[in-house]
Amino acid sequence: MLYETHTEILSAHFTWLKIMMDDQMKKWIQRVLIVLLILPFMLVSTISMAQTSKGKHQVVVDAGHGGTDTGVKLSDKYYEKDITLSIATLLKKELEKSGNIQVMLTRISDKNISLSERIKAITTSNSTVFVGIHVNGGFGKESSGYELYFPGFASVTAGQVNSREILEDMAKNKYLNDSVRLAQLIQRNLETVFPRKSRGLRNAPLVIFKGLQTSAVVVEIGFASNQEEKKKMMDENVRSAVAHALSKSIREFSN
Ligand SMILES: [Zn+2]
Repeated sequence: MLYETHTEILSAHFTWLKIMMDDQMKKWIQRVLIVLLILPFMLVSTISMAQTSKGKHQVVVDAGHGGTDTGVKLSDKYYEKDITLSIATLLKKELEKSGNIQVMLTRISDKNISLSERIKAITTSNSTVFVGIHVNGGFGKESSGYELYFPGFASVTAGQVNSREILEDMAKNKYLNDSVRLAQLIQRNLETVFPRKSRGLRNAPLVIFKGLQTSAVVVEIGFASNQEEKKKMMDENVRSAVAHALSKSIREFSN
């Protein structure tokens, strides 16, 4: 009886162990299957994380104007839209020579791009740098030189300030210092192309900067109304030199 009881107990134990083993085996198999299923996704996300940690910079280059929006006229053949597209295209080529920079152009041909399309391109691109290219058009023939704009704030008088505006300003401030640093680098490098022609860094609440979460600078290369500068901007070698100076600045900024 005693033995029988033992045997019964042992047998009951064995059945219970078997059930437990079966359950554990099932769970184990389930786990292996789950791991096998998610493994490819884990690998993909590890690779993309590695790319991000390598610091692949996304740069958006905006060639001003395009299509029927010609910008200022330089000659019968050249408009601002042509100069800006030429420099933007050369800049993309220059920048992509170094492996860790990816460039997106807001336009690659002579077509109309609305302001909202340009802004959308910047906000959806995850970019760390935005550079807009334009040509200045003054009324007088004496005006000359290049100008650099970085995001500014519309001045608010004390009575109009509210907490939302203060919060928005704080968010903008985060990118402001970087934008100024980028503008300073561009100023220094453009100096080699147009010596003593800097008209300085200007803080401006441009529409294109509105809501930007990135370092941003708009460059006005020179004046279409100035004979000497007009000739230079129509010269492809000068445009290459400008693209090189901009590329050097962005690389220095991203390092
Ligand atoms: Zn323009």
